Amino acid sequence: MSKKNGKSSKAEKKNTKRAGGNGAKAAKPPKFEKAAKPPKLEKAAKPAKSKKSAKPAKSEKASAKAARRDGVEKLVYFFGDKGSDGDASMKNLLGGKGANLAEMCGIGLPVPPGFTITTEVCTAFDPKKGTYPKPLAGQVDTAIARLETVMGKKFGDTSNPLLVSVRSGARASMPGMMDTVLNLGLNDATVEGLAEKSGNERFAWDSYRRFVQMYGDVVMGLKPESSDERDPFEILIEKKKEKLGVHLDTELTTQHLKELVAEFKAAVKKFAGRPFPTDPKEQLWGAIGAVFKSWTNERATVYRKLNNIPESWGTAVNVQSMVFGNMGTSSATGVAFTRDPGTGERRFYGEFLVNAQGEDVVAGTRTPQQITKVASRDWAKESQTSEKDRAANFPSLEELMPGCNKQLLANSAILEKHYRDMQDLEFTIEDGRLWMLQTRSGKRTAGAAVRIAVEMEKEGLIDRNTAILRVAPEQIDQLLHPTIDAKAAKTLLAKGLGASPGAAAGQVVFSAEAAVAAKAKGIKTILVRNETSPEDIAGMDAAEGILTAKGGRTSHAAVVARGMGKCCVVGCEALRIDYKTGSLSSAGKTVKQGEWITLDGATGSVYLGQVPTSQAKVSGDFGKLMGWADKVRRLKVRANADTPHDADVARGFGAEGIGLCRTEHMFFEGDRIDAVREMILANTLEAREKALDKLLPYQRKDFAGIFKAMNGLPVTVRLLDPPLHEFLPHTDAEYADLAKKTGLKKAQLEETGELLHEFNPMLGHRGCRLAITYPEIYAMQTRAIIEAAVEVAGKGTKVLPEIMIPLVATESELKKLRQLVIDTAEGVLAKKKKKLAYTVGTMIEVPRAALVADAIARHADFFSFGTNDLTQMGFGLSRDDSGRFLPEYVDSGVLDDDPFVTIDQAGIGVLMKIAAEKGRSVKPGLKLGICGEHGGDPRSVIFCDRIDLDYVSCSPYRVPVARLAAAHAALTK
Ligand code: ADP
Ligand code: MG
Ligand code: MG
Repeated sequence: MSKKNGKSSKAEKKNTKRAGGNGAKAAKPPKFEKAAKPPKLEKAAKPAKSKKSAKPAKSEKASAKAARRDGVEKLVYFFGDKGSDGDASMKNLLGGKGANLAEMCGIGLPVPPGFTITTEVCTAFDPKKGTYPKPLAGQVDTAIARLETVMGKKFGDTSNPLLVSVRSGARASMPGMMDTVLNLGLNDATVEGLAEKSGNERFAWDSYRRFVQMYGDVVMGLKPESSDERDPFEILIEKKKEKLGVHLDTELTTQHLKELVAEFKAAVKKFAGRPFPTDPKEQLWGAIGAVFKSWTNERATVYRKLNNIPESWGTAVNVQSMVFGNMGTSSATGVAFTRDPGTGERRFYGEFLVNAQGEDVVAGTRTPQQITKVASRDWAKESQTSEKDRAANFPSLEELMPGCNKQLLANSAILEKHYRDMQDLEFTIEDGRLWMLQTRSGKRTAGAAVRIAVEMEKEGLIDRNTAILRVAPEQIDQLLHPTIDAKAAKTLLAKGLGASPGAAAGQVVFSAEAAVAAKAKGIKTILVRNETSPEDIAGMDAAEGILTAKGGRTSHAAVVARGMGKCCVVGCEALRIDYKTGSLSSAGKTVKQGEWITLDGATGSVYLGQVPTSQAKVSGDFGKLMGWADKVRRLKVRANADTPHDADVARGFGAEGIGLCRTEHMFFEGDRIDAVREMILANTLEAREKALDKLLPYQRKDFAGIFKAMNGLPVTVRLLDPPLHEFLPHTDAEYADLAKKTGLKKAQLEETGELLHEFNPMLGHRGCRLAITYPEIYAMQTRAIIEAAVEVAGKGTKVLPEIMIPLVATESELKKLRQLVIDTAEGVLAKKKKKLAYTVGTMIEVPRAALVADAIARHADFFSFGTNDLTQMGFGLSRDDSGRFLPEYVDSGVLDDDPFVTIDQAGIGVLMKIAAEKGRSVKPGLKLGICGEHGGDPRSVIFCDRIDLDYVSCSPYRVPVARLAAAHAALTK
């Protein structure tokens, strides 16, 4: 009881906030000159194009310009009156949905007519004042009038009312992120007209009930903001059902629906402080304003950020005449993919519901049915439904409405061929007649993207280069993640539908908020819900994987997870989730919040605990696509690897060498750290050399292992880089231990340690500066490299060592150290009477070095851009401390991207360009590479190609990503 009270008072607060802000005013028609009578727009609005030119022909700019030449800016584009004003090329202006609706009309598919209000209006729209560009009102009036003529219905007519949907639609698809209102135009009078005209009173009231609910949620602000709060209308429906003892919406009679509408309207009035609007025009402007406003709602904003969609793009608004899937048993609504979005298999995949409307299918509240009979049977098997039960209660569309099914398959084939890509479709069947409501390139898993690209090439639908470009380099990261180890022992907890592959293990959480909070503490989670809704987006992003008890492969959870490349299992019907106690149970086992489970997104299996995983391989279609990519790219791809194991992994992923082998980790292993500490704290050259002598054999062994693993490929070894203080003992006990081992006095060691303390170690005594003061360190490392190389070369391995000197800022540093390296190396070779080719180069990571790169190049065989330090020093921004403020920079748009993730091309990139040009002005053949973290970032890889680097080097697991990005770079030059 008290909980309920708490809720309503919260709702009241929300109410005052909103009504005080823009609630009351915004829903009214906007302020514009009433005189804006249908201006002479007829010409501009007429479908200027013939069917033929509906192909992506006219450029968007051209048509927009043409519209302006007529003197009035064209803000409204009509579609569906035997053609359309727009086409698929106009996504920027009409949004993806609007442009594709126009295109579908253009190619003659059945689309309910309507019009699109451009994204430019969204950009100009002031959500606070609710004002629009002046010509809009008149253009909307004209379009409505035309729609009335085409449909033979009238807006607000009590005997034959025109009803419309008001749909959002941005350039890039943002599934479920913004709002849509259906059945707009209904009121107490028009509902009677609809009932009479259709001869179906229940249908009319069902539509009205839905309209008041959607409008109340979206326009009047009753939709709760968090997924914990329930939609007030849903609560009313549930109460009604409880009272009547029924379970399904379809069991509610006309009388019940009438009562619900009255209850809904009362709820709206109580919440918003004003009655539900009855004038269809007022309703229309309210909905248009709400869609534009939804562009900046929280979940849309989060989604945009996650997907790099700029706020400036804006959304379009589509006003479309309604078709009804809720007219009875000969009506239905559904969604489909022309190929399986999970696996990429070429088989039509879709779900539908009879006597339903709009989002019913994806909402996960009723179990959707399969479109094809084959899929229906598969579904029955997976969900352990008997054939009898399936045929009686969950038949396929193929069985239920064979005619519509055939037409749907034909239309999908037309669309796939037309767009030359897998399509994600929405359709509605109104009383036996099929209508297409949306098409777009379907979101798919990385595996599906690869398979579809390769198969479409084989089918001749696209060429090889297009196939390469169809797979986003970022996306294939997903394919490189480990999968469940088939051989590992595991306990099955439940089985659902695999909706997005990969393996994910984490601690169970039951709310998006909990997932976000856990992530902040570094805890891995699996988000478990009955179903997810768009409010959960941040939590889905924070979780390692998503598990839902309800919904099919087209449910919200499945679609969003695939888009994120996140492991996801849906429709795990056996799961009993108890949000209150924070536990789930299945098969007699109970898992509490915080306990581990593991998901297999490919098979839909859910396991208890943490199941071991195994390494992914680049094979099959993936291997084929990567082979094509390798043929077109110019840029070479190397890996950053410090151990033979990493080197092996890198080779397996196609690395063409090691671009960065750090030597410092070798200093930490086992008891080597004692020798290192002894070396650092030594007070005399002799003592230091003695300590270094102990390290030499270790280093030699490490290098030999890596050289062997990289047989025939170049290996760039970076000489010691980090500040010495990183190796110092930390505790009293460590000092005592070291004193015992070295026989030196503890007090003396501590004093030296104290002296080595630095205020700003990253800008202190590190990199080549160490070797300027202690040349014997680099001399030892060089010896180890050359001796190891000679040793393995003697056993038939081809060794190509490249010795790299870090943190060089001046010509003389490199000159001096290069001489040291060469003298040492030649000394070793002379003693061993061997010959060996090796090169000596430097990192470009201090901004000054970039500026004097021509002088530095005289002493270097190669440059490797250390973009981590170059960014850090170029920005004057410590990477290790940036976590406190950099996210804010990116969130608030002060910076477009985190410069440690993707190269800041406008600044740090210019330093790279200068260095590359200056270096090559002295040595035309100077080899150039990059070994910073950016080497695995696709956008940075493309930049590196543009400035003519020879190779990028990245972590072993990113190598395929970089290979593909390099191919994209070559193909988009
Ligand atoms: P979203 O962008 O979230 O997918 P949509 O604008 O596509 O939102 O609409 C939501 C649902 O309403 C979809 O299922 C769509 O097919 C349905 N819908 C939209 N407009 C109409 C219409 N004119 N007639 C029937 N159903 C519609
Ligand atoms: Mg849609
Ligand atoms: Mg560095």
